[in-house]
Amino acid sequence: MTYCSFCGKEEADGDHAFCRQRLSAIDPPRYCRECARRMVVQVTPDGWTARCSRHGQTVSRP
Ligand SMILES: [Zn+2]
Ligand SMILES: [Zn+2]
Repeated sequence: MTYCSFCGKEEADGDHAFCRQRLSAIDPPRYCRECARRMVVQVTPDGWTARCSRHGQTVSRP
């Protein structure tokens, strides 16, 4: 099971088209896809990094 990294709900639960739109635009993810924990997000000059205390760091694609 995966979770929406924008709103933190289950991917299967509801329509996340808006979430994906936001994520692909400018917003970093807020929730871990694997456990829905709130991630620690840092905006960097190149983009962002988001860290889950359990699953480690995700970095924005260049
Ligand atoms: Zn969502
Ligand atoms: Zn996680």
